[in-house]
Amino acid sequence: MTSTKQNSQTTSKAEWMPSSWKEKPAAQGVVYPDETHLKKVLSKVEALPPLVSAGEIERLRFQLAAVQRNEAFLLHAGDCAESFDACTHDNISAKLGLILSFSLIVIWGARLPVVRIGRIAGQYAKPRSSGTEIVNGKEVTSFRGDNVNSLDPDARTPDPERLLSAYFHSTATLNCLRSLLSSGFASLNHPRSWSLEHVRSATLKAEFERIAEGLSGALDFCNTVGAGPPDLTGYEQGGGRGVLGEVDFYTSHEGLMLGYEEALTRHLPVPPALQKVVGTKDSTGVSKAYYNTSAHFLWIGDRTRQLDGAHVEYFRGIRNPIGIKVGPSMADDELVRLLDIVNPDREFGRVTLITRYGAQKIDNFLPGHIAAVRRSGHPVAWICDPMHGNTLTSSSGLKTRHFRTIISELTSCLRIHIECGSKLGGVSLEFTGEFNDEGFSVTECIGGSMELSEEELGLRYQSFCDPRLNFEQSLDVAFLITNHFKT
Ligand code: PEP
Ligand code: MN
Repeated sequence: MTSTKQNSQTTSKAEWMPSSWKEKPAAQGVVYPDETHLKKVLSKVEALPPLVSAGEIERLRFQLAAVQRNEAFLLHAGDCAESFDACTHDNISAKLGLILSFSLIVIWGARLPVVRIGRIAGQYAKPRSSGTEIVNGKEVTSFRGDNVNSLDPDARTPDPERLLSAYFHSTATLNCLRSLLSSGFASLNHPRSWSLEHVRSATLKAEFERIAEGLSGALDFCNTVGAGPPDLTGYEQGGGRGVLGEVDFYTSHEGLMLGYEEALTRHLPVPPALQKVVGTKDSTGVSKAYYNTSAHFLWIGDRTRQLDGAHVEYFRGIRNPIGIKVGPSMADDELVRLLDIVNPDREFGRVTLITRYGAQKIDNFLPGHIAAVRRSGHPVAWICDPMHGNTLTSSSGLKTRHFRTIISELTSCLRIHIECGSKLGGVSLEFTGEFNDEGFSVTECIGGSMELSEEELGLRYQSFCDPRLNFEQSLDVAFLITNHFKT
């Protein structure tokens, strides 16, 4: 690799190719025993159909620009990592149901439209702090997610076939989501179908039912008088209003496995309404752009955001809206230089900053980051990830998070944005709406209105990655946000 290539952060867009990341050092790289096998799998993925469309991606960009203008709230949520085994109808509808329930509370309480992006239909790969880990007293290669190797400590060699399997599991998940969305499950007019039956706290249940009834009544009234929804629904100027009470839903994952992302990056015609303003014209006069069609939204993780690294190189060329994780190790000027690289034209709707410092550290870092971004003039949406800076190991050895620490980072974040004359645009959460056969939620985070104790963690700890908020704990967070925006 030449030094000119390494320093080519200022390379023009014209020099970008879906494969130009290969000339840069890639953090968190996976070493496959058989490169030829990997190439064969990636060629297969390259030939398979896109999972999402250019129109859907542009629509999300349009809606994220509204989040940047404080006209909508972004909910980014789901599992830390999906597993192939959890790809079932029940699990997917439980996840969608929780995202919808959460957003309903925010829409009703804060009177803000909610843009929903799931960590779903492709969130398989995991960055790891170390290449090896100890399992049952033995040092083995770290588990890197279902699309790389197996959770089974005896099967940790990366297998390229898992990338193909990830494609098909993403497709099955997306198909299930699309059919749920189009068959009325997600309609805000019928919120009771989202599995409230399992909520055990009587107060939480009563409060949610009150909101659901209020919203149903309001929607009926609007339908009766013929009023439309807020115009968040399309990128076409003046058009694209959706059906009242129906919702948009988008997919996302961390863009970690660049070979896979490249294989699903397609040079597609820009949707008609944007033909004049977006993309580069081909020989027939059609404007085209590179879209990553594996998900609507991709984010760069905290471990792969090196300015001269492969991930940043890949991300700078795709048209999708992107997220960037921002933690305590990010210097103020580094953040601005990163924004210069991934959004040189300072386009609205392109970048969402997902801050994740930890409850103890946020006061030391967020004000500086807000000030630096403001001085730079970059348009961004700020959202708070109160999960990843607050992970600890319980006395029994389980990875957990305290509900009160999560709330502490979130409330500090809300406060700091106000103090800095900024506004928090949304949240990024790891949560799950799954219940077991007896109707009990998972027990992975301590506390919340259900007062889950450390001793109870082992009861239904199901995450094979980071600990997630359960259904009740998630709704607690939704009410907290709502109360903030109400005042
Ligand atoms: C994640 O979002 O699951 C994650 C690993 O986050 P981060 O990159 O912020 O540590
Ligand atoms: Mn995680």
